[in-house]
Amino acid sequence: MLDQVFVDIIKSLLSKKKKITIITHVNPDGDAIGSSLAWYHILKLEGHEVSVVVPNYFPSFLAWLPEASEIIVHKKDKEKAEERVLNADLIFCLDFNDIGRMAKVSDCYTKSNATKILIDHHLQPSLFTDYTLSVSNTSSTAELIYELISEIELTHLITKDVAQALYVGIITDTGSLSYACNYKSTYNAIAFLMEVGIDGEHIHRLVYDTNTYDRIRLLGYCLSEKLKVFPEYKLAYISLTKEELKKFNYNVGDTEGIVNYTLSIEGVSVGVFFMEREGIIKVSLRSKGELSVNDMARKYFNGAGHHNAAGGELCGSLNDHLSRFEEMIPEMVKI
Ligand code: 5GP
Ligand code: MN
Repeated sequence: MLDQVFVDIIKSLLSKKKKITIITHVNPDGDAIGSSLAWYHILKLEGHEVSVVVPNYFPSFLAWLPEASEIIVHKKDKEKAEERVLNADLIFCLDFNDIGRMAKVSDCYTKSNATKILIDHHLQPSLFTDYTLSVSNTSSTAELIYELISEIELTHLITKDVAQALYVGIITDTGSLSYACNYKSTYNAIAFLMEVGIDGEHIHRLVYDTNTYDRIRLLGYCLSEKLKVFPEYKLAYISLTKEELKKFNYNVGDTEGIVNYTLSIEGVSVGVFFMEREGIIKVSLRSKGELSVNDMARKYFNGAGHHNAAGGELCGSLNDHLSRFEEMIPEMVKI
C-alpha cells in the first residue's frame, strides 16, 4: 500500500489534461528507462501531453522498448529537452533522489514552475520536489509505478507496451530476480504483467543476449586481466582506463553488470568497478549482506544508492585513485 495522501494528490493532479515531463537520471539504466516509458504510456493513454527527458544516452539494449525513440536526450536535443522541462505543468522525477543526478537538466528543472513529484526507491532522498514518494523496500521504481497505477485505478490501461517496460525495470534492477527482490509484491506485479501477455523469456533475450563481440571480449578482458581480489578484506575490484574502453570500441551500456562478477567469487562480499569516462571516474559498488555500499558511496565516492548497490563519481587520475583506494581498503570495509 502506498501513502494514501500521495495517491490522492496524484489523482487530483491528473484529473485535468496537463503537459507532463518525466525526467530520469544520468547514465539511464533499465529501471530508469522502463519506469519512465511505462508511466509515459499510461499518462498518454489518459490524454496528457507527455515527454520523457534524459540527461544523456541510454544503452542500445533498451532501444527496442516501444516509443524509446521518443525519449529526448538532453545531450543531443538540448533546446527541445529544456523547452519540455520549462513549459511543463507537471514534472515527474523517476528513479533518482538527488538533484545532481539530473546532470545538466538540473538548471532548467530549477527554473521550471511546474509542480514537481519524485517517485523513487533509493535511500535517503533529498528534498527537491513538491511531493515525494520514496519507498526503499521495493525492487525498483518500475514496481512502484506499477503500484501507483493500481492505486490510482488505472490498471486497465496496462497494455503490453506498459507491461514490457515495467518488466524491464524490474528484471534489470534485480539482476534478473537475483537481488533486491525478496518481496511478494514483486512477484505479484510480475504475475500481473504475465497476464497482460508479455513474453518474459523473449524480453530477457532482448535485454541480455544482444551483446556485441566487443562487449563480450571486454568482459573477458576484465575478468582475466583486470580483476584484483583482496581475500583478507573480502573485496574484489576491476578498473578500466579510457584507452582500454577505446580498444574494445566502448558503447554506452557495455560495462553494465560487470561489477556483479566480483561478488560471484566465493568469499567476496564487496565488489567495486572503476571506469574512466568523459573526464570523470565512474564508480560502481556492490555488496552482499551487512556492509552498506550506500554509506561507502556517500563517504568515499561522492555518491549514493541502495544498501547493496550504489555508485559514485571521482575527478582526477584513475591510477592515483586506485593506489589511494587500495591503501584505504582496510578502513573502507569497516563501514
Ligand atoms: P550502477 O553501479 O549500476 O551505476 O548504480 C547502482 C546504483 O547506485 C543505482 O541505483 C544508481 O542509481 C546509484 N548510483 C550510481 N551512480 C551514482 C552516483 O554517481 N550518484 C548517486 N547518488 N547514485 C548513484
Ligand atoms: Mn532503480
